Amino acid sequence: MFTQVELLPADPILGLIEAFNQDTNPSKIDLGVGVYRDELGNTPILKSVREAEALLLTRETTKKYIGSHGDPLFSQQMLPLVFGENSNVLAEKRATLTQAPGGTGALRLAADFIKRNSPEKTVWISNPTWPNHFAIFDAVGIQHKTYAYVDSDTNRLDFPALLADLKQIPQGDVVLLHACCHNPTGFDLSKEQWQEVLAVLKEGKLLPLIDFAYQGFGEGLDEDAAAVRLLAEELPEVMITSSCSKNFGLYRERIGAFIAVAKDTTDMEKVRSQMASVARANYSNPPAHGSAIVATILASQELNTLWRSEVDEMRNRINTLRQQFVVALTPYGLAEKFACVAEQRGMFSYSGLKPNEVAQLQKDFGIYMVSTGRMNIAGYNEQNLPYLCEAIASVCG
Ligand code: PMP
Repeated sequence: MFTQVELLPADPILGLIEAFNQDTNPSKIDLGVGVYRDELGNTPILKSVREAEALLLTRETTKKYIGSHGDPLFSQQMLPLVFGENSNVLAEKRATLTQAPGGTGALRLAADFIKRNSPEKTVWISNPTWPNHFAIFDAVGIQHKTYAYVDSDTNRLDFPALLADLKQIPQGDVVLLHACCHNPTGFDLSKEQWQEVLAVLKEGKLLPLIDFAYQGFGEGLDEDAAAVRLLAEELPEVMITSSCSKNFGLYRERIGAFIAVAKDTTDMEKVRSQMASVARANYSNPPAHGSAIVATILASQELNTLWRSEVDEMRNRINTLRQQFVVALTPYGLAEKFACVAEQRGMFSYSGLKPNEVAQLQKDFGIYMVSTGRMNIAGYNEQNLPYLCEAIASVCG
């Protein structure tokens, strides 16, 4: 069998990492991979995580399975983080959480759940999006189509086109929305725009699947949850996939959650039973270490405060780097062209750089980013920013 198997090309991002590692240019900069980096270029373990792990080492008494829904303490702590302390949805017992191996695992649970219960539904995904969205729905055999998101001529959010496309979606279909920090563009919807999206979702009886991978990386932990909370309050049914990879820096621990909000407790329990079954068929039980860390941090006042300050620090650093980027391009007359970078949110920016410019940055300057012009903002720092901007000015000139 193996001889007949097709050799697949490497993932473009992995290819980029490989090329970056082999580049001997001492000034090289990696703006490709989607992990947070500090000013030294490291992706450190958060202090709150280290402290929680130290506590766990003394407290943990067993490694037995934690059950298909995961750790109840994790669920208990995560739900208020997502919906807010005084959430009606929680008070009305309309939400259920199933721990998952990362945001990716949560999306896979969502996809399996849709496939099992409503296989005729199409999932509508923004164009562009995180490419794995397509791969996940393809893997379970669910149809997907795209809705407009950016105007490629101006490199700005094209909200009228987005809204027009959402209005065309057949009743009952699923719409995948990025709660905040849209990957790859960095363009988020304003409060007013979310209200308009909500109206279209209501009108079309559409079912939102909200990908919430960057809570805390845009405007703040509560601010970033505004759209999730609005839709959960206003709609009878909502699905959310949350990730603790970025905001807890727990990338490799694989910790996230699938959350469903139903119209009442009876429906919620039905969905919950389905999720246990879907999780069991995928991996039986989720890994326990990440959830134990998150639950320990969120449940401790001291660690919670420390963690919140660490999230603030990561977010503020990214947003400062965004401002500095535009300032550093001003002497080259490029401030206006790249003004969007300061307005975008999250780890990524659709810079507007064209594929040929991206290729030239790589070849001549050792600056690596995805060919679409997506930059990881945390990939540069105060030291190499002048070099980056000089290079951009040179390829855009
Ligand atoms: N959704 C989006 C939009 C993402 O960018 C990512 C991570 N790159 C994920 C989901 C999945 O994150 P995780 O690493 O937690 O699986």
